[in-house]
Amino acid sequence: MPNCRDMAELATDYLDRAMPWHRRVLAWTHLRACAACRAYFDQMRRTVALLRSLTESMPPESEISESDIEAVMRRLNEPTG
Ligand SMILES: [Zn+2]
Repeated sequence: MPNCRDMAELATDYLDRAMPWHRRVLAWTHLRACAACRAYFDQMRRTVALLRSLTESMPPESEISESDIEAVMRRLNEPTG
């Protein structure tokens, strides 16, 4: 069974579904039992979804301004719920 630190490392693979099923089951079991990791994964899922939607509509790198980056950071730091 992964511990909480393992879970933090697994989060990206888990959310990308880039993980063998037997490891997913272990991670899922931990999530069921651990509210802290559930909250963490929830936050990660939102971040991944947001980043994905942003990269799809992303202008060429040379056109990204600092205010664009600030806007993204603000959205990432917004309280959720
Ligand atoms: Zn945990």
